[in-house]
Formats: sequence, C-alpha cells, structure tokens
Amino acid sequence: MKFPLKSILSVLILGLLFTSACSNQIAGAPLLVNPPDEILVTATSLPDGIVTPEPTAFVEPTATPEVKLCRTSVVRAIPEYNNKNLVNAFQTVDPFVVLTIDDGYSNSVLNQMLDILEANDTKATFFLVGTSFGEKIQADTLKRLVENGNDIAYHSYAHPEVSFIEAMSLEDWLQDYRLWSDALRGVIGEQLFDEGVVPYARAPYGAWTSAFMTSLAEQDLTPFYWNADEHTFEANRMPLREGSILILHIIPENLDELEQLMTTDWDVLSLREALGEECD
Ligand SMILES: [Zn+2]
Repeated sequence: MKFPLKSILSVLILGLLFTSACSNQIAGAPLLVNPPDEILVTATSLPDGIVTPEPTAFVEPTATPEVKLCRTSVVRAIPEYNNKNLVNAFQTVDPFVVLTIDDGYSNSVLNQMLDILEANDTKATFFLVGTSFGEKIQADTLKRLVENGNDIAYHSYAHPEVSFIEAMSLEDWLQDYRLWSDALRGVIGEQLFDEGVVPYARAPYGAWTSAFMTSLAEQDLTPFYWNADEHTFEANRMPLREGSILILHIIPENLDELEQLMTTDWDVLSLREALGEECD
C-alpha cells in the first residue's frame, strides 16, 4: 500500500495539533500549589529601565501605564499586561507570587490578616478605601499595617457603585484621590503616609473607565490588575504560577485562603518588594 506525501504530511500536522492542544490542556488544568523544585536563576538585582506595554487592539483604557523596575527589587520581574493594558502578573523565573488585599470594612479581620502576615514574616499591598480610614479601620490598625512594612495603595475614596463610576469625570477622580489621601494623612500622619503609601491603584469593581485611567496617569499612579483570586484555592481554578498577582479581600472568608497561601512554598511578596522602592 502506498502513502502519498500529502497524506503523510496531513498526519504529521494533525499529530502536531493534537500535541499542542494536549499541552495547553495540561498547562491549564492542574492546581499548581507549590513552585517547581528547580529554579533556573536566582536574581537579586534588576537592570535599570522602564518596561512599556505592547500596544493592544483594545481602545480602553486610554492611558498607557508605565511600570518602573528598580534595582532594589528582591526578585527579577518583568510586568505582564492583560488585554486591557493593565499589569496582571510578572514574568519571572523566581518562585514568588504577589499578594494584594482589597477594600477593608472590618478592623478585626484586617488585624487577623496582619497577625497571619506577621507570623510568616510576609508583606502585602493593601488597596484600601478612604471612607474606612479611622472609621471601619482604626488608626492603630493602619499604623500597625505600615509599621510592619506593608503597602497602602489607592482604591477610591468611597468605593462608588459602577453606575456612579461611569459618570465620574477626570476632575471627579482627581478630587477623589485628594479626599482619599487627605483622609489617610489625617489618620496616620504625614510620616507614615510617606512610608506606607505606594503609587499604585486599583479601580473599584475593576471599572477601569477612561476618566479613571487618565486621572491615574496624571498623578503617576500605576494601575494593577490580578491573574489569581480566592478561587485559586479551589481545585483546577486560576492556578498560581511564578509572578502571579493574587487578590484577596479583607473579609472573614479570605482568612482561610491567606493561611493556605502561607503553607505553600511560594515566596509571597508585596508589590513594592517585587518592583523595588522608587527609582532614583
Ligand atoms: Zn474593591
């Protein structure tokens, strides 16, 4: 029996397609709890420079964020951008994940989270809401958070509803940041504000409108998205990988997830630790 060249080629191509489909499936399916054993490179410093995102076909958000990498970073990390041009992870060979924790309406849950972080000598970046400063989150808790080396980042003054966010102008957002930062300064003081606040931002409900993005660009605030959330801790959902940015919330339900994260072998870092202190 003869096999014409065309048939042989077809079989080969089909074989290749099958292999690549399987690889994709394998890469996406299992929950990667711990980092791989073999780490190819251990980096302690970074090259100078600014990484700008690849242009994408998406129109919004209109402002293009720039993420600066500094020598003081404890890992080597290159920001990765999602299809909305927002940093949602880092490209790296170092076995770390970045922990971000949002909102903050419970003083006791936040203190329990700080207990867990403290016990594990770990720092996180907290995207907090302005109206809770000195109210739902007490001054002592905020001071403790900063004194332990965690970051505070902007997550709006009052976490407005999406319909309200869509109506907010650039000027509204600039005013919103002023309210947020004044409220925080009023509660923790100028010195801890300078120590603890990092120039990063996250839109309430992930509603990244053009006006919001422009306000960030005008104030040199860098937006950060995520590529893993609390579902990471369910089987076969959003697996952590090197350089993942994980989002949790200051809610009782996420205390377990935080404890679970601490039992993994990942190095858990704040954004400031991954990116380094402000560049010279
Ligand atoms: Zn939020």
